Amino acid sequence: MSHLSLLKACSQKIRKEVLPLIGSTEANIEFGTGAGGDTTKKIDLAAENAIIQTLQDYNVSCTLISEEAGTQKIGPKPSEFYVTTDPIDGTTNAIRGLPFMATSLATSKTPYLRDVETALVSDIVHNITYTAERHQGAFRNEKKIKPSTLTSLEKAVVGVDFNTAKLGELATRLMPVLQKTKHLRHLGANALELCYVADGTTDAFIDLRGKLRVTDIAAAYLILLEAGGVMVTPEGAELDAPLDAAQRVSFIATANVSLYETIKADLDLAGR
Ligand SMILES: [Mg+2]
Repeated sequence: MSHLSLLKACSQKIRKEVLPLIGSTEANIEFGTGAGGDTTKKIDLAAENAIIQTLQDYNVSCTLISEEAGTQKIGPKPSEFYVTTDPIDGTTNAIRGLPFMATSLATSKTPYLRDVETALVSDIVHNITYTAERHQGAFRNEKKIKPSTLTSLEKAVVGVDFNTAKLGELATRLMPVLQKTKHLRHLGANALELCYVADGTTDAFIDLRGKLRVTDIAAAYLILLEAGGVMVTPEGAELDAPLDAAQRVSFIATANVSLYETIKADLDLAGR
């Protein structure tokens, strides 16, 4: 079984388990703090268990790196490959019944972001699946995708994650970008928002908070790069990090290099 087929099987099992819980009181029952540092809700656990169940059903040996359970070994040869997952990205949306949430799954031969080889992000509610394999492009429900060619911040639809206690600091840093952007968005599931950049639905997504878990973006990173987009550190370096639920990243993701350079120049302006 290919890694991509395996990830598809996991995501369909998750969808089956999670759909009935969306917007329910039951979804919100708490199960302590997960490896990623957030409170684990019943809906998160149901999704994670669906992945573990699927891996076991197919007799897969791997190391699972997950937002809730942390790193765990599955099967007799756990070092064969790594599966990095955020079982539900957008748990708050899921609990409230706000229909924007995704499953994120990635495989790699080493526990590093730059080595992710297969990626899947699935919009749970709408059953839309984004996939990528290294050097083979990115796809939305099996159709090849590419980002937008838009280069003007004034016309761009730009996502920014503002959920941080250091909001004042972040807003100051982003001000030149915010002032030019007429269409700001934050939809509450960063993996899916990155896929929206990958398929041209939006044009950029910026998260400079330093608190997004690498498990959240492991799959979307490859999907965006394979689609032809840009996703780098705020300084413009290659984005890489150990795949671990405690590891955090900041990034600028854009549809194209020109839009990245515009945003970077504006951020540098604010930094002076
Ligand atoms: Mg999550």
